[in-house]
Amino acid sequence: MIQPEVIVTARESETSAAGERLAARLRAGDVVLLHGDLGAGKTAFVRGMARGLGASPDDVTSPTFTLMQEYRGRMTLVHVDLYRLAPEEVAALGIEESTDEPAVIAVEWAERWPSAPARAWTIRFEDQGGDERRIAITAPNR
Ligand code: ADP
Ligand code: MG
Repeated sequence: MIQPEVIVTARESETSAAGERLAARLRAGDVVLLHGDLGAGKTAFVRGMARGLGASPDDVTSPTFTLMQEYRGRMTLVHVDLYRLAPEEVAALGIEESTDEPAVIAVEWAERWPSAPARAWTIRFEDQGGDERRIAITAPNR
């Protein structure tokens, strides 16, 4: 089993910075699966990814109600939040068919995506108490 890279952050900006650093390693077509409870920092991380991909990070809010948002930068970022969806509704969403452009797809509550691609980045967030968050990053097999 591949060992994840583990980062512990002490504030939201550090979690976003971790997302920004990840963006530099992403290629078009990459899928980033984000796991962790409400408030664990998934959206903060995606905000950093948007900045790193050259999109406007201020646009990144929780897509809980819109389900899917697209940010245009150097590379398009598709941001999905599956929190409110049942697995059968997720299948109907067509996440990977959602964009024709070369894009990165970031999915919050990825455990609700039954057909998530096996070759994806996996990011696990844990609230360690206070403002501390543990972030474990596993890279896809290329
Ligand atoms: P999620 O998308 O996982 O539900 P959000 O990124 O929307 O989480 O929210 C994380 C919340 O936790 C924000 O209110 C943020 O200010 C707070 N927070 C405190 N410490 C951190 C940290 N180290 N990293 C990320 N968020 C933090
Ligand atoms: Mg969120």
